[in-house]
Amino acid sequence: MHSIKRVCVYCASSAQVDRAYFDATERLATAFVDNQIDVVYGGGGIGLMGQLADTVLEKGGRITGIMPNFMREVEWAHKKVTDFVFTASMHERKQKFLEEVDGLVALAGGTGTLEELFEAITLKRLGLFTKPIIILNTRDYYAPLKEMLDRGIAENFMAPVHRSIWTFVDEPEQVIDALQNAPVWSEDAIRFATLR
Ligand code: AMP
Repeated sequence: MHSIKRVCVYCASSAQVDRAYFDATERLATAFVDNQIDVVYGGGGIGLMGQLADTVLEKGGRITGIMPNFMREVEWAHKKVTDFVFTASMHERKQKFLEEVDGLVALAGGTGTLEELFEAITLKRLGLFTKPIIILNTRDYYAPLKEMLDRGIAENFMAPVHRSIWTFVDEPEQVIDALQNAPVWSEDAIRFATLR
C-alpha cells in the first residue's frame, strides 16, 4: 500500500462546466483535507482549480500553487492561496508538479489537463515517474479517453502491462483508496516501455 501525503491535482480552468464537476472537485478536496493529504495544483483562481483551492482552504487544509510567471502577471493566481511556486516556463511548472508528490489525480479538464496527464503517463511508461495516476471519470467525461487508451493497447501501440500505469474511478470518494492501492510501478519500466 502506498503512503499518500501529498498529491498533485490536474483540473480545468473553465468556470462554465456542469455543476457536477464542481461538486466532484469539492468532494475530492474535502476527502484530501479529512485525510490530511496536502494538495499541489496549477494555482488558478477560477473553474475547477478555483473550487479545489477554495474548498481545501475553507476546510483548513494545505495547498500549493505552481504557476508560470506569465500567468501571475495576468493575475490568474488564486488570491487566497499563500503557498506559491512561480516558474520561468510551462515546462518547468509541469516538472515541478511531479516533484515530491506521492501521486497525481486528473479531474475533468481541457487541453491543459490532458497535456499534463499525458506527460505524466508518458514519463511513467519510461520509468521516469513511478507514482499512482488516478483519473476521476465524473459524468463519464473520460469514456473516450479510456477507449483511446484501450485501443492503443489493442492495436499494440502499448502493451497490456501499461494499463497498470493509470486507474479510472467514477467517484471522488474512491480516489484515495485508488491512490493507496495502485499497482506498484518500477523505474525498470524502460525495459518494457516499447513493443519490439
Ligand atoms: P484546461 O484543462 O485546459 O483548463 O487547463 C488547465 C491548465 O490550463 C492549467 O494547468 C494551466 O496551465 C492553464 N490555465 C488556463 N487558464 C488558467 C487560469 N485562469 N488560471 C490558471 N491556469 C490556467
